Amino acid sequence: GASIELENLTKRYPGSAQPAVDNVSMQIKAGEVVVFVGPSGCGKSTTLKMINRLIEPTGGRIRIGGEDVTDMDPVKLRRKVGYAIQSAGLFPHMTVAQNIGIVPKMIGWSKPRIRERTEELLDLVGLDAAEFRGRYPRQLSGGQQQRVGVARALAADPPVLLMDEPFGAVDPITRDHLQDELIRLQYELHKTIVFVTHDFDEAIKIGDRIAVLRERSHIAQFDTPEAILTN
Ligand code: ADP
Ligand code: ADP
Repeated sequence: GASIELENLTKRYPGSAQPAVDNVSMQIKAGEVVVFVGPSGCGKSTTLKMINRLIEPTGGRIRIGGEDVTDMDPVKLRRKVGYAIQSAGLFPHMTVAQNIGIVPKMIGWSKPRIRERTEELLDLVGLDAAEFRGRYPRQLSGGQQQRVGVARALAADPPVLLMDEPFGAVDPITRDHLQDELIRLQYELHKTIVFVTHDFDEAIKIGDRIAVLRERSHIAQFDTPEAILTN
């Protein structure tokens, strides 16, 4: 993993009276799982999307592994930051293998290297490569789609993984199972993970530290689950 530092990060959407994210500063250690928990609309997704530059900040700086990435070429940033979202966000017209290969292809990996990496990743997330690589997303259950979404986010082996309610759209039993798998995976991979949820139980289960956010992503608390539960 790599450390993440947010310094006075701000986003004001055009035409909005209030910033969606207002002056947020935070330090996340390498290899740490930090969970953002807070009500709908408090700016969790906006913050995450600024870290991978799907949204341009209107103020502040972002550093990953000590390097300022606020103005880095977004394609180059894909090597550093993987992204997994609710409902997996797989492209329906692309197979599982093609979905997983998007970022490696974008950054110029050879076909054999991408193929080998895809097999490895499907294995890692518990899907049989021979059975699943040629399937389309509609031929997968919700839980299987989420697994592919996580594999895709890990494809180029980025030190940082951003997960925006990645298990929000699956049933409670599958969600519990995927949470366990993520904890197991993290034990092997040591990524720096920022995980967004509105589910406090999920935050407690997964997080090394939890950032409790209020409106405009103001940080109300930022501490370990144990400390937050006793406060
Ligand atoms: P959360 O992820 O915590 O639910 P969001 O980051 O999605 O919150 O949204 C934060 C605020 O920014 C909300 O008030 C939302 O309406 C607003 N917002 C989100 N995306 C846009 C956009 N593209 N244009 C204008 N306002 C937006
Ligand atoms: P879940 O219980 O997670 O909702 P589903 O009922 O969607 O799972 O699917 C059960 C199994 O059937 C899964 O292994 C899934 O991959 C497979 N499956 C579902 N739809 C298709 C399809 N259209 N083609 C091939 N296999 C499918």
